Amino acid sequence: MNAHPHAASRFCMHCGGRLARRTPPGDALERLVCEGCGFVHYLNPRPTAGVIPERDDGRLLLVRRAIAPGFGEWAFPGGFMDVGETAEEAAARETREEANLRVEALSLLGVYTRATAGVVVIVYEGRALGEGSAGSETSEVAWFRPDAIPWDALAFDTTHRALEAWLRRRGLER
Ligand SMILES: [Zn+2]
Repeated sequence: MNAHPHAASRFCMHCGGRLARRTPPGDALERLVCEGCGFVHYLNPRPTAGVIPERDDGRLLLVRRAIAPGFGEWAFPGGFMDVGETAEEAAARETREEANLRVEALSLLGVYTRATAGVVVIVYEGRALGEGSAGSETSEVAWFRPDAIPWDALAFDTTHRALEAWLRRRGLER
């Protein structure tokens, strides 16, 4: 997913002053601190939400990503939350956008972190209503049997970990 919006910032979002790496008083870590107004630009992880949709025949849907990172690789639908929506709503919206698919009966599967990327992934499982098709940011959708998940072509380690949890919940193994 995208780099953090502040990670490469050189100027203060408030006064336009130059940012410097400095450890503020009472803090333990270096932060981006404005040399003009002193504002500290904290780099907090950003939450994303996604769904592993399941069909009545036990297959799960993955999308092939048409954007970086993970271009050409498989992931479940998901993306950054917008202000004003719940995690469930964000997960369902991303599934509509990326897979043209509606989902219902969302149930929390797990919460996973890509620490270096500063991303927290909230993953649901849910029942698919329809077949879906490629949407924005995806080139293809496909329904995989649990024993045919493309482990060597998954986009993120969080994709791996969530799919492994999905299998465990069904008494299956990779
Ligand atoms: Zn400033």
